[in-house]
Amino acid sequence: MKTLKLTLLTLLVAIVFSCQETTSEKKVVSEPVTKIQNDIEKVEPPHWWIGFKNKNVQLLVKHPNIGKATATINYTGVSLVETHKADSPNYLFLDLEISGTAKAGQFNIIFQLGDQSELIQTYELKSREKAAEDYVGFNSSDATYLITPDRFANANPNNDFVKGLLEQGIDRTEDYARHGGDLQGITNHLDYIEDLGFTAVWPCPVLINDMPSGSYHGYAMTDFYKVDPRFGTLEDYKKLASDLDSREMKLIMDQVANHCGLEHWWMKDLPFKDWVNYQGNYEKNRDNWSNEKTLTSNHRRTTNQDLYASKKDNQGMTDGWFVSGMPDLNQRNPFMANYIIQNSIWWVETLGLGGIRQDTYPYPDKEFMSNWAGSIMEEYPNFSIVGEEWSYNPLLIAYWQDGHKNADGYDSNLKSTMDFAMQKHIVDALNEEESWDLGLIKMYEGLANDFAYTSPKDIMAFLDNHDKSRVYTEFNGDIRNTKMALSYLLTIPRIPQIYYGTEILMDDFDNPGDHGLIRTDFPGGWAGDTVNAFTGEGLSDAQKGMQAYLKKLLNYRKSSEAIHDGKTIHFGPQDGVYVLARMTENETVVHIINKNEDTQDLDLSRFEELGLNGKILKNIITEEQVKWNNSLVLNQKGSLILTTKF
Ligand code: CA
Repeated sequence: MKTLKLTLLTLLVAIVFSCQETTSEKKVVSEPVTKIQNDIEKVEPPHWWIGFKNKNVQLLVKHPNIGKATATINYTGVSLVETHKADSPNYLFLDLEISGTAKAGQFNIIFQLGDQSELIQTYELKSREKAAEDYVGFNSSDATYLITPDRFANANPNNDFVKGLLEQGIDRTEDYARHGGDLQGITNHLDYIEDLGFTAVWPCPVLINDMPSGSYHGYAMTDFYKVDPRFGTLEDYKKLASDLDSREMKLIMDQVANHCGLEHWWMKDLPFKDWVNYQGNYEKNRDNWSNEKTLTSNHRRTTNQDLYASKKDNQGMTDGWFVSGMPDLNQRNPFMANYIIQNSIWWVETLGLGGIRQDTYPYPDKEFMSNWAGSIMEEYPNFSIVGEEWSYNPLLIAYWQDGHKNADGYDSNLKSTMDFAMQKHIVDALNEEESWDLGLIKMYEGLANDFAYTSPKDIMAFLDNHDKSRVYTEFNGDIRNTKMALSYLLTIPRIPQIYYGTEILMDDFDNPGDHGLIRTDFPGGWAGDTVNAFTGEGLSDAQKGMQAYLKKLLNYRKSSEAIHDGKTIHFGPQDGVYVLARMTENETVVHIINKNEDTQDLDLSRFEELGLNGKILKNIITEEQVKWNNSLVLNQKGSLILTTKF
């Protein structure tokens, strides 16, 4: 009550003050704003920048009955080109043009209401902190560490309980409750991540999910401009970004253009009748998410490519809600389209991002996604975006990658796609007994599919992620298979992504595939943990062994041009042995998988075209030296990774 009174008082003072200022304000054009005024409930983007290629920005203004207002701006270099009313009386959309001569600074937007009163909102245009070309996105020289932030490290127990949010507190015994991990928890452990050899960090979304349950995963955003206070503040997010930057590591932001959370602030008063698809779902779902009447997506993702797809199926795919608690945003509404694109750019600019991972890529309108990716790449020519298409079909992976010649003429502007196909090939290849068409042949032929890709090395590959059973579980606890899979992943022409905890053999044996379990707490991230994977305290020898193995491989990979950009040659698997090489003029890396328990004497004459005869090579893991001559003894099951670089 006290807060309400104060707010009303502030508003009253602001209105009186603005009324008094009306006449003088109009004469003083482009004077610096001396008093910041915030009469308006919400203006988004909350600020913008000068110096973008795209001179236009569209502001969403939300305030009771603001639709009746006439807006004016007096600031050199900024013109208010057009004002749009919405279906709801409580919104206005302002099209601003920011000329090349506009200077960074603050100015007032004056909203003249019908009853002679005024509201004033101070808006800021900032200077850009670095050149557009300096936003360098992740690429094949990077190795990405994927983190579920709620489950990695709780550095700040004070933000575990935040008043006023729908889901309260933490419960570490409950897989689907919040556990308390936060942004500072990631920042505090960058030494560990960097030391392992990772060069990029992808935290799952950290924007607010003010949802009554399951908020920990982050994919049901209820405000696209606000960090979830349980993860920290915008300053904490910026600190993570700048600490990564000072280590020359990249921050990848996980964004969602397809949907929001059911409790998103705009759901109670949508600007337009077509702001989200199937708006009627909201009324049905407010009190019961599992309402069966919800029009959810048919998840027939191939309707994006299928030349025979019915309109009905395609619409069911694109417009249906992802799940009943996630309203489907309508990107065909041009105001929504602008909103999402500007929001993405706002975050790239605010955090100095090294990439975006875009969730559920095939679900929004694909023409919009092309514009979205294109708009970002237009502003940041060296940036990277990876889109998630959960498909094991390489044709779909190829379809989404920029420059691919598609039958329907679609051009995605998307540099990187997710390689679910390779994930399955690797797991199957190592789990299966060898035969003519089973086992290593899956990996070999899986990689052979690269002929279909515009740029294989720009595709992001992985063995598991926050939605999939952990790789150690997929291999039924077989450490040697896990290591072979990882070494292959880190050698092939791809951008590798590894899920946190893989390095200590985290598993989901108790209930394979269960999301809450896949996202288990990282040991040592919480005060009082008896095991601490950051320090090694309490880890088993097997866990320490995997940490050391990955550290060796990743740190070699970090400066290996052959792995980043080299030519690839591989030889069809024979007798349970599969040989692959990556080569530049100065470096050859040979990756040999041996699935046999017995010692193998590998005849090297078959690999003559690698030009290694008589050369000394180093084992990347053990640092032992071997001479590449007539034959090579493979005395244990596992992978042997050799290099000519010392
Ligand atoms: Ca916390």
